[in-house]
Amino acid sequence: MKTSNPPLKALVFDLKRFAVHDGKGLRTTVFFKGCPLRCKWCQNPEGLEVKRRPIFLKKQCIGCQSCLHLADQGQVIWNDDHPVINTQSTGGFEAIVDACPARAIRYDSTAYTIEELLERILRDQVFFREEGGVTFSGGEPFLQGEYLIDLLKACKKAGINTAIESSFYADSNLVHQAVPLLDHIFCDLKIFDLQKHEQATGVKNTQILENIAWMLSDPAIAKRVIVRTPLIPGLSAQKENIAAIADWLASINPNVHWEMLNYNPLAPAKYEMAGRTWTLDKVKPLTKIELEELYQTARDHGITNLVIE
Ligand code: SF4
Repeated sequence: MKTSNPPLKALVFDLKRFAVHDGKGLRTTVFFKGCPLRCKWCQNPEGLEVKRRPIFLKKQCIGCQSCLHLADQGQVIWNDDHPVINTQSTGGFEAIVDACPARAIRYDSTAYTIEELLERILRDQVFFREEGGVTFSGGEPFLQGEYLIDLLKACKKAGINTAIESSFYADSNLVHQAVPLLDHIFCDLKIFDLQKHEQATGVKNTQILENIAWMLSDPAIAKRVIVRTPLIPGLSAQKENIAAIADWLASINPNVHWEMLNYNPLAPAKYEMAGRTWTLDKVKPLTKIELEELYQTARDHGITNLVIE
């Protein structure tokens, strides 16, 4: 008897409709779950783990104890007036999530087949008009690379404008397959020094630099690329780092579009919900003067196309 493989599924932790900061026009942004990097300033800590996990939202809990009654393997422990998810338990959460009347216990992500996700994207097609479309973000979209390529092909077939936000810490084979299917490419280049990059993000930047260099070396691809550097005081927002990135970018393609993004401390509350510790308490966004100094450093090192909002 012939057996067929089950359809590919990907975990999505958020689907943002009518997004205006993730590329041109009105866009639907798909946040894929799972990231190989561990940047200290990550704005989406709920998207780091590859696995689907149950989460508890205390504000929504009505204390009905339905979850406790279904916790036959200790999945939930009662503490005072609310449940606590027992991360040591190996029991399943399906029944508990289904039974919670307030959606206070729920999964942090949803698994979609390509057809299901395409159908969700197509619902918004009427709003995309000329410039809008779908943006794949994360997490790291390339972590579910085979799925991403098939989804991009399906989007192109449906006439949807496509964009990606990625670290490009990805297999170059996958990148070479994805790039022809992308209208806009936002790639992060955070820190140029290999060791400092590894200290701040948990991975070396060799693969990232190789992928970015490949894209910027081809003028037909380069015009669709915006390189982005998040400016984190004490980490990436240092003159030596900006000068090193600028020298490297200008040596490949001085017309590169390069955007520096000021630090945005929105994440601490998300860290608490994701059970992680926020370590950048004292870090503040750069002032206008500090920003202008870094822009000038980039210009002094040969960059002519800074993207400044
Ligand atoms: S089932 Fe939901 S609402 Fe009821 S106690 Fe558990 S988490 Fe709270």
